[in-house]
Amino acid sequence: MTENSTYQQLRGHLAYLRLAAAAEALPGELDHAQAKKLSHTAFLERLLAVEVTATEARRHAGLARFANLPAPWRLSDFDFDAQPSIDRALVNELATLRFLEDATNVLFIGPPGVGKTMLAVALGAASIDAGYRTYSTTAADLVARRHRAALEGRWATMRFFAGPRLLIIDEVGYLPLANEAAAALFQVITQRYLKSSTVLTTNLGVGSWGKIFDDPMVAAAMLDRLLHRSVVFNITGDSYRMRTHRAHAEKLRQAHGHRTPTEEATPTG
Ligand code: ADP
Ligand code: MG
Repeated sequence: MTENSTYQQLRGHLAYLRLAAAAEALPGELDHAQAKKLSHTAFLERLLAVEVTATEARRHAGLARFANLPAPWRLSDFDFDAQPSIDRALVNELATLRFLEDATNVLFIGPPGVGKTMLAVALGAASIDAGYRTYSTTAADLVARRHRAALEGRWATMRFFAGPRLLIIDEVGYLPLANEAAAALFQVITQRYLKSSTVLTTNLGVGSWGKIFDDPMVAAAMLDRLLHRSVVFNITGDSYRMRTHRAHAEKLRQAHGHRTPTEEATPTG
């Protein structure tokens, strides 16, 4: 068999096995191996590493698409100095994702604008990076989707929220949940209880959860399951947006104080 026909057969094998990245890299890697006098092992390792990298990238992109994260927030973007009520070491510990192993839940509790969603999303991004199936939704969306699924008898969809290794439920408590909606949320929490982690954000302290649910027993039972194995952040302090807005206003005021009358007449954008 000639070298050329062996080469063609190798191309055929790679195509049959759907190793497209390796197929594309083959000519370059062959040249490289020849030039550097690589061993067969070293050549094969390099070629397959190309395919592994491509497969990992594809898998990551698929997980990221599925996850439905509302923003590309990362933990490294979070300004911990602006929010001293948050235990930075604890957040960094969570970022190792060990909490997923024993299905620990994470609750971010606090007023609007303090970074609850950002932290939840950043943990979601870390979980995707680690290769875990992750999904993000709001409480209102979750309830609406379960409601539709129940009406249409789509039982597989009823199990959907049990599937992800990490589920983010954002904005619990922003809207009051009537009996049926509360039951839907309760079922999701129950399906996941002790099996997989849920990260939940809420503007209501756990003592006020009775207020969002018509039935205080449902609220109590849900909290019982959520808190049984959990890490809770009670975030106090100012809205980050308001803070930057205030800092901006303060800078303008100071600049204003030092302006000469002519500068002051200059219109600003
Ligand atoms: P919440 O969910 O608590 O209402 P968000 O997480 O949506 O607040 O944060 C509001 C906005 O402020 C977002 O744009 C977010 O990126 C930003 N933000 C909040 N806290 C911080 C922080 N500590 N560092 C950097 N950005 C922050
Ligand atoms: Mg939010």
